[in-house]
Amino acid sequence: MNFNVKPNYSILLMSVRKGAPYSDKIDRKTNTLIYEGHDSPRNLSNSPKEVDQPLTTPKGSLTENGKFFTAAQAYKLKLTQHPHRVKVYEKIQNGIWCYKGFYNLIDAKIERNSGRGVFKFYLQPVEIKTLKKEKLIPFNRIIPTQVKIEVWKRDEGHCIICGAKQNLHYDHDLPFSKGGTSLTSQNVRILCLKCNLRKSNKILTIPPFLFT
Ligand SMILES: [Zn+2]
Repeated sequence: MNFNVKPNYSILLMSVRKGAPYSDKIDRKTNTLIYEGHDSPRNLSNSPKEVDQPLTTPKGSLTENGKFFTAAQAYKLKLTQHPHRVKVYEKIQNGIWCYKGFYNLIDAKIERNSGRGVFKFYLQPVEIKTLKKEKLIPFNRIIPTQVKIEVWKRDEGHCIICGAKQNLHYDHDLPFSKGGTSLTSQNVRILCLKCNLRKSNKILTIPPFLFT
C-alpha cells in the first residue's frame, strides 16, 4: 500500500493467490475489489496475525491503513466530492505483477476477524468515459489475470517473435482499436518491447501453431 505516491493517486499491490499473506478478493458481480489492510510490522509485534492491524504508528501518525481509511471515510461522509484514485497491480506469480487498472476507493471497514481488527478497503474500477477523458487505460482494455497466466504458460515466458526474456509485454494480436478483445488468450501474446514497437498498430502474421 502506498498512499499518494503520485500527486493524484495511490498504488495497491493485490493478490488472490493461494498462500498470499492477505486475503484480497474480487466480487465478480459488482467488480468490487476488497483489499485487506496490512498487519503490524514485525519490529512492533512478534505475532502480527494476532493483533489489530494498526491505524496509527507508535508516534501517532497514520499508517498506510490509516491514510487509506481516512480517505475512504472522507468520501463516504461526503467531506470530499471525488473518491480517492488508486492504481492497482496484481501478483500473478513470483516477481510478476500485472497492471489491473485504476480504481476508486469508495469505502473502508474494520472487520473483527478471529478476535482482531482487520481493515477492508472497497474499490471499484473507474468508469471508462472518465478514464478516456483523463487519457488513462480503461478497465475493459485490461487483460484479465487468468488470460495472462494462460498466455504466459503458452508463450513460455518469452517474446514469441525473437525469444527475448526481458522487457516483455502482453500484446493484443488484433489491436484494441480494430476490435480485438482482452478476454481470450487467443488474442493476447507476449512480445518484447523491441518487437512491440516494430509492430505498432499493424497486424502481424503469427505462425498458426502458437494459437492451437
Ligand atoms: Zn522480441
